[in-house]
Amino acid sequence: MTLHCSGLRLVIDLKKIGHNAKTIVELCSRYGINVVGVTKVVCAHPKIVHVLENSGIRKFADSRLKNIIHLRTAGFENEIALLRVPMKSEAVEAVHYADCSYQSELEVMDQFHWAAKKCNKIHNVILMMEAGDLREGILPRELDSFMEQILSYSHIRLQGLAINVGCYGGVRPSYQNTSLLVGWKEYIESKYQLDLPILSGGSSSTLQLLEEGKLPPEINELRIGEAIFLAGVSSGVCLAGGYRDAFELLAEIIEIREKPSVPTGEIDVDSFGRKPHFVNKGIRKRAILAIGRQDVSPYALAPRLQGMEILGASSDHMIVDITDVSIPLHVGDSVSFLPDYGGLLALMTSPYVIKDFLPF
Ligand SMILES: *Cc1c(COP(=O)(O)O)cnc(C)c1O
Repeated sequence: MTLHCSGLRLVIDLKKIGHNAKTIVELCSRYGINVVGVTKVVCAHPKIVHVLENSGIRKFADSRLKNIIHLRTAGFENEIALLRVPMKSEAVEAVHYADCSYQSELEVMDQFHWAAKKCNKIHNVILMMEAGDLREGILPRELDSFMEQILSYSHIRLQGLAINVGCYGGVRPSYQNTSLLVGWKEYIESKYQLDLPILSGGSSSTLQLLEEGKLPPEINELRIGEAIFLAGVSSGVCLAGGYRDAFELLAEIIEIREKPSVPTGEIDVDSFGRKPHFVNKGIRKRAILAIGRQDVSPYALAPRLQGMEILGASSDHMIVDITDVSIPLHVGDSVSFLPDYGGLLALMTSPYVIKDFLPF
């Protein structure tokens, strides 16, 4: 059915997403780990979030307050956390719509405290600690000044500590960097006579440590997005029995021609300021697809058809070499691709891509 539908579509197989989610929830529960469903890569689409709820996930997190507000407005009642360390300017709305936030700045936390006090709510906070990847996170030597301030808050409850690696710096999760969390927790608990129930050890890439038995047993939360949606292909884990094809992109062919593989004329830069490089393979059969960089980067897609090669894309056109494709292709046919993490993020965000759901 999906093979023949036209246009530009992302086919979303809810059963496969549910299967991946259940597999991860089961794996994590064997180690006493609570899975936080991270919804940012699917823009917290309510249909997808609903599947995660039905697969045993009870806590959710998203980087964008807009996504959280959208879910709440749709009647979503589970616990939800603001995942990106917040903007000072979103404190009032964040306290209203989110139960918890991951934080790394005192000034922002002050604002959250003020906002929580004003509406007489307790807001939960998990401190983001720097563990080597050099994105968000407070430094260990700042812990005491943070703790003094946090203990003065009447409407902020410190729930725990978190680290994040593998995003900006590409640092691999390890026993060493995840155990830093355990040391900090012990330090705070003994010095401040406080119980920190949550140790949030990382994202999808940390599942590998878990499977190898190298995650410190004190870690009891992982924040998982990629592995649920793409079975770990982009985070370097391989979710055993997981579906890599829960999201399939279909794009329609709008031109097929045999053309030379090298352009004619003096080569300047392309529409994105890059000087393209061509290899002369003689005359090749090429197809143009009605999809472009406004939707997704061509490098974020893997063709499913044997023999198809992506040559490049401008804003609204993607050019593929189909000389070596053994089945006949015609203008009007749709061809299929699997997106990587960046590709999925872009396709879910593009309003030009129709989302087709296969039932749960
Ligand atoms: C996006 C994100 C995650 C989830 O990452 P995945 O690779 O999708 O599992 C976890 N924690 C933080 C802080 C994030 O920004």
